[in-house]
Amino acid sequence: MSEARVLIAGAGPTGLVLAIWLTHFGIRVRIVDKTAEAGTTSRALIVHARTLEFYRQIGLADAIVGAGVTFAAINLWVGGKHAARIELGDLGAGISPFPFILILPQDRHEQLLIEHLAGLGIEVERRTELLGFDDRGDHIEARLLRPDGTTEICLTDYIAGCDGAHSKVRETLGTGFPGGTYANLFYVADIESSGPIFNGELHAVLSAREFLAAFPMQGEGRARLVGMVPPDAENRPVTLAWNDVSLRLRQNLALVVEKMHWFSIYRVHHRVAAHFAKDRAFLAGDAAHLHSPVGGQGMNTGIGDAINLAWKLAWVLHGRADPRLLETYEPERIAFARRLVETTDRAFVVATSASPAARFMRLHIVPHVVPVLARLQAVRRFAFRTLSQTSLNYRGSPLNRGTAGEVAGGDRLPWVPPAGTAPDNFATLRTLDWQVHVYGTPDPALATACANHGLALHTLAWSPAAARAGLQENAAYVVRPDGYVALAGAEPGSLTALFTEWGLRQ
Ligand SMILES: Cc1cc2nc3c(=O)[nH]c(=O)nc-3n(C[C@H](O)[C@H](O)[C@H](O)COP(=O)(O)OP(=O)(O)OC[C@H]3O[C@@H](n4cnc5c(N)ncnc54)[C@H](O)[C@@H]3O)c2cc1C
Repeated sequence: MSEARVLIAGAGPTGLVLAIWLTHFGIRVRIVDKTAEAGTTSRALIVHARTLEFYRQIGLADAIVGAGVTFAAINLWVGGKHAARIELGDLGAGISPFPFILILPQDRHEQLLIEHLAGLGIEVERRTELLGFDDRGDHIEARLLRPDGTTEICLTDYIAGCDGAHSKVRETLGTGFPGGTYANLFYVADIESSGPIFNGELHAVLSAREFLAAFPMQGEGRARLVGMVPPDAENRPVTLAWNDVSLRLRQNLALVVEKMHWFSIYRVHHRVAAHFAKDRAFLAGDAAHLHSPVGGQGMNTGIGDAINLAWKLAWVLHGRADPRLLETYEPERIAFARRLVETTDRAFVVATSASPAARFMRLHIVPHVVPVLARLQAVRRFAFRTLSQTSLNYRGSPLNRGTAGEVAGGDRLPWVPPAGTAPDNFATLRTLDWQVHVYGTPDPALATACANHGLALHTLAWSPAAARAGLQENAAYVVRPDGYVALAGAEPGSLTALFTEWGLRQ
């Protein structure tokens, strides 16, 4: 009946990744965007390891990593003086095949996603705006405004609102978007320049009243500056220009701009939609949550939403899972979005607040304590796991269960690096299918149960690296198509119970 099984509103990174994954799963999609062309500004710069792990599953990671840059250190400046240099090295060594923080401007990132999608035969329908939709119970009827000004009715099984902060899908659903907006104004500037901070590293400049961060970008002398607009300039945001911001900090750093590629003033919001799903409609990305740019989490979280939703939609649409599976999307993703808003909020206040406590923290605690802590291996691992979203888990979800070793149902399958000629344990995730991993020797009865359910059973060598990753010898881990463990310590009975409860079929 429907011309597309899923209609995706919005072709930002969230919508594009959803379209790509659904297409890889063999689901017919339409992806529409009201703009005439993809974004041309750099916006979200940071691509975290968890996103790259997802991209590796679909053969896209090499292109993304190849187009970006990594940086070796974070420098802290206080009062115009260089206060500390924090070596990053391979921060996430042993945790992820991508043990670094990648910088790739969002416009280039989106271009690569669009090319990948086009390679799968799907083009973004530009200048096509979602006007609204009705849920007819067994399908969605969406109204689209086409480039020629006519209105089209699109019939589809499900609709995904990846349509950003001012989401029409969220508005139609009537779910609230509670939260607030920070009082300060911020600016972003992509520049070409020279000076001590153009050495391919990240620089954070701390002061009593202001804040400035400089991120390296690809190309000689290219950098992204992010900073706070001084409170006295905030009353005239419309006319604000480069010459109104961070003057003292720039003088201290001897920073002279040779070329300005992009300058923009923006407000930062912290909001999470009351619901991420209602019947046949879903929200993902900025349509569902907005938070401060601290830690570069926003875009990566939207991409994580898209992947969580994609495989569930695919399994339900292929008749290989009970539609109740879709009810696990909201609890799995909303809990993380709420936590993220809280944590980025705390960090943001320390970075930007004018309160005496925050100032003291910025000027005296951060430059002295952070470099010391950053030398501790445990702190480095914790920081990488948190920032990279490799520690994000769905332990509370009704879909996931069991524990074996340190791994519980809902955890990301921990990474076990390649050894000798054996590939790493993420290599099999390229099948985008449910699978079972055993590190050691599988129980023959479990092997029979896997065969009965049409599940691939991967026997991997037990090794010190597997033990370090928290896995348990000979235990079976049932892994979802998105690389999260659904069942840890699986036995034939619990495997069958999981598949029966969720109507899962291969
Ligand atoms: C100045 C700036 C700097 C930023 N810096 C960072 C950063 O450093 N790190 C970070 O993680 N994030 C940053 N962000 C945020 C980041 O850009 C977003 O989190 C990311 O773009 C969200 O992706 P998305 O696909 O969910 O939404 P969007 O990228 O907003 O995409 C939504 C798409 O939906 C389309 N659309 C909207 N309504 C309709 C409709 N009715 N019909 C059809 N199409 C529609 C829009 O045209 C748009 O293309 C920044 C954003 C800005 C503006």
